Amino acid sequence: MAKNNTAILVVDMLNDFVTGALKCDRGLKIVPKTAQLLEGARKAGVPVIFCNDAHLKGIDHELKLWGDHAIAGTKGAEVIPELELCDKDYVVPKRRYSGFFHTDLDLLLHELGADTVVMTGLHTHMCVRHTSADAYCLGYNVVVASDATDAFTEEDYKSGIKYLKEVYGARVYTVDELLEQFAK
Ligand code: ZN
Repeated sequence: MAKNNTAILVVDMLNDFVTGALKCDRGLKIVPKTAQLLEGARKAGVPVIFCNDAHLKGIDHELKLWGDHAIAGTKGAEVIPELELCDKDYVVPKRRYSGFFHTDLDLLLHELGADTVVMTGLHTHMCVRHTSADAYCLGYNVVVASDATDAFTEEDYKSGIKYLKEVYGARVYTVDELLEQFAK
């Protein structure tokens, strides 16, 4: 993996997903490793892109299934304080599971010269999977940071990783392994 054509995607590490409306304790568990990965990526010049739910209250289709969460402009839609955004980071607001669906993520990756995305965040089998699906369909190489993504249950996490590997050819690395590659 060449670091000069790679970008990190951080999916839905927002207050509502970790400690709020859709609280997920397993999401809290991946915060230290995710923070480490982002720090190493920034040092190595690898772009960090936050793909953040930013829903329109009373409008977005998805809210009927999940209830209100990450409503644009609220505290719940902000990135968790532990993963504080840096000036160099990018934020792509989204209104569906996938970070690509009706957003400018593809354009941004194209202009950054990235052909490989490192997937992190919540949830392995939902928004991470849907974002990976679009990344794959658009021709990007998919990499998963195994200890910087999780889901509500161990089963969802495991089946999520298995699916990413089998269907999108995702390469799976730990944060430590990725940091080693970035440091080269
Ligand atoms: Zn949502």
